[in-house]
Amino acid sequence: MEKKKISILGSTGSIGTQALEVIEKLQDKFEIIALAGGNNIELLKQQALKFKPKYICIGKNTTERIEIDGITTLYGSEGLNEICSNKENDIILVAVSGKIGLKPTLKAIENKINIALANKETLVMAGDIVMAKAKEAGVKIIPVDSEHCAIHQCIKDINQVDKLIITASGGPFLHKTIEDMQKATVKEALAHPRWNMGRKITVDSATLMNKGLEIIEAHHLFNMPYEKIDVVVHPQSIVHSAIEYKDGSVIAQLGLPSMHIPIQYAISYPERFEGIKSKSFSFSEIARLDFEKPDFEKFPSVKLAYQAGKMGGSATVCLNAANEEAVFAFLNGDINLFDIYKITNKMMSQHKLIKNPSIDEIFEIDNEIRIKTREIIK
Ligand code: MG
Repeated sequence: MEKKKISILGSTGSIGTQALEVIEKLQDKFEIIALAGGNNIELLKQQALKFKPKYICIGKNTTERIEIDGITTLYGSEGLNEICSNKENDIILVAVSGKIGLKPTLKAIENKINIALANKETLVMAGDIVMAKAKEAGVKIIPVDSEHCAIHQCIKDINQVDKLIITASGGPFLHKTIEDMQKATVKEALAHPRWNMGRKITVDSATLMNKGLEIIEAHHLFNMPYEKIDVVVHPQSIVHSAIEYKDGSVIAQLGLPSMHIPIQYAISYPERFEGIKSKSFSFSEIARLDFEKPDFEKFPSVKLAYQAGKMGGSATVCLNAANEEAVFAFLNGDINLFDIYKITNKMMSQHKLIKNPSIDEIFEIDNEIRIKTREIIK
């Protein structure tokens, strides 16, 4: 079998490094075309020496240079676009964080390259445009996010599905009070009980905004109305999500919590390899699984995300930008954890909705919201 040619945008991040661990196990299945690693030059260099891609891409603002024989170095967003225009690629794993993922994703779609998508912002900011263009081009957008990967694995025929059920671990504050959350330190918010992830997404998991963003992601990926997307808290993170068919049958995907598996599934799809196999699953060892309703008083971000999603258009751009700026301010020690919601909510209530924003408008709105949010925080 011919090797699948892959590029990784964000190879030095949490998803990127785990993707390379997967590929290391599946060297006879994958060939790496390009690795884009932002500003972590040292790690990118190690990765380049080990995996020998044809191209590497580093952040534009770095003064450091990497020179390795036989490898072409690209820079910044033009570099990402060049990678996504290279039709040698069978699939591109978009694992950069933030809005930087959107334009390369569109470029890959334009060039009819399938995408394994780990970047939430792409769909939260521009899901309508991205999914419409992908459909038109016949490009597959394969979710990497564990919940969406689970749903993707459960669905045989989307037309027979009546409901999506997204599980949430509940994060570190699941059984704490609102007062505890207000006093929470950055360290406490970053101590996620189940998943080891980047800082921004870990804070989003503590406020459950991550779940809110995932609802919006699911709406776009599976073309499902918001009324038919439910969230259930499941602290053990064994059931990664589920779907309900029209006849009431529920199909769930289970497994021990590990990001390697959804990454591997997404880049291997429609094949399934042993690769990094998770520890064998034992129902009797797990013994019990708990489920509860999310507490929207304590985690109002989930409601806010439903609201933004139902408004559509620029509302989710506003939600995402305001939340991200507030999370940065929290990580910086400027505001408390609960303020993230208050600030995002305030920005949402002031937002003037644009129904069908273009990509340029989306970036403009994103920028404006960020500036305003930073002003409010001051
Ligand atoms: Mg997730």
